[in-house]
Amino acid sequence: MSRLKLHHWILMAMGIGAGVGLSLNVLGARGTVDPATVREVAEAGKAVGDLWLRLLQMLVVPLIVSSLVTGVTGMGNLRQLGKLGGRTVIFYLSTSMIAIATGLLMVNLISPGVGADLGLLEASAEGTALPAALHQELSLGQVLWAQLNHMIPKNPLKAAANGEMLPIIFFSIFLGVFINAGEHETADTEHASGKGRESARVLRGFFNSLFDVMMRMTLFVVKLAPIGVLGFMLYAAAGKGFDAFRALGLYALTVFLALAIHACVTLPLILKIFARRSPLAHAQAMAPALVTAFSTASSNGTLPLTMNCVEKRAGVSNQVSSFVLPLGATINMDGTALYEAVAVLFIAQVTGLELTLSQQLIVAFTALLASIGAAGIPHAGTIMMLVVLSAVGLPTSAVGLILAVDRILDMCRTTVNVWSDSAAAAVVARYAENDTPVASR
Ligand code: ASP
Repeated sequence: MSRLKLHHWILMAMGIGAGVGLSLNVLGARGTVDPATVREVAEAGKAVGDLWLRLLQMLVVPLIVSSLVTGVTGMGNLRQLGKLGGRTVIFYLSTSMIAIATGLLMVNLISPGVGADLGLLEASAEGTALPAALHQELSLGQVLWAQLNHMIPKNPLKAAANGEMLPIIFFSIFLGVFINAGEHETADTEHASGKGRESARVLRGFFNSLFDVMMRMTLFVVKLAPIGVLGFMLYAAAGKGFDAFRALGLYALTVFLALAIHACVTLPLILKIFARRSPLAHAQAMAPALVTAFSTASSNGTLPLTMNCVEKRAGVSNQVSSFVLPLGATINMDGTALYEAVAVLFIAQVTGLELTLSQQLIVAFTALLASIGAAGIPHAGTIMMLVVLSAVGLPTSAVGLILAVDRILDMCRTTVNVWSDSAAAAVVARYAENDTPVASR
């Protein structure tokens, strides 16, 4: 794609789609152009966009499975991780949940999608039916129990075939844990057969290779995003006129504000209280990694620099950083978790669906798992949106619309992802100092 970067192409596609679509919308309303023609153009745009969306959907299952298995098998000897592993996982889950809560609060306060008509209602009518969970008013306990039940697949292949995310995530982590256990099998391990290491080596190699190829495929499909954006913008602008842009702008603002609160208030407070560090000094130390995360929109791509900054500039030991950061780049995505929650609620608002507290809890839980399952590459969070949307029964074509503003939001949320990883390293390092010896690996 010549010298222009992907996001330039996406911007151009958005501009052309919006310009042509809006003009058609206005001309159609005035009667200069036959309204039937405007509708046909809008439908053609949607058809092209949908085609691209199918490509993305095609990648979801193998990408999540390989990303998670690779993440878990790369964690080192799980038996020996002890406190270091426990603290890291607790930090990751808690900050992601705080991020999601911030996102939900902001999207409920600002309500960017309420009253907006983006044509999603028609899309949802032909799409998935709302699952029972979203129809009923369940208690908190019932919601959690239902989710837990749903999480354990009776048949993992069926779950994969149906694109059910929770069971896929559960099975992949389970698989990863046991591949890992086999790899670190010793003669005194219970049920040691002597074959554990060989099986683990083969499977680990297989999933590493699969993940590598899946990432390449994803990056290729993402390169085609301008075509999808053009199609969906044309559809929204020609069909719905200016309304589409007001809602999209407000949605982007909501994500941005929530990310800013998490990055500038929550994480600095955590750094101050739990790591006993000056947040400003830590931010200065992390600046090169943060800037790189912003410009590349990839936690994985930034990882070498994140490790360098955390060790050399923020003074965290290699022992801590070499465990906390690679794991964080795969599973700790506060920014992505927040974005998933806001985007789903936004789409629910646009489709006129008022989600109650327990329904929002399902969204929160799914967003958390989506952020864990997302790979640290550009637009991975958007791919996960497809899964979250189908999990809660909302129209997946909505992804095409929010994609128009996704690049800039991806840059912001990736920066928050990396910032949170570095905060985790600082917090875990402080507590590791008090242990003697530091959790051995
Ligand atoms: N681009 C993000 C990352 O690498 C993932 C996402 O799309 O949210 O961290």
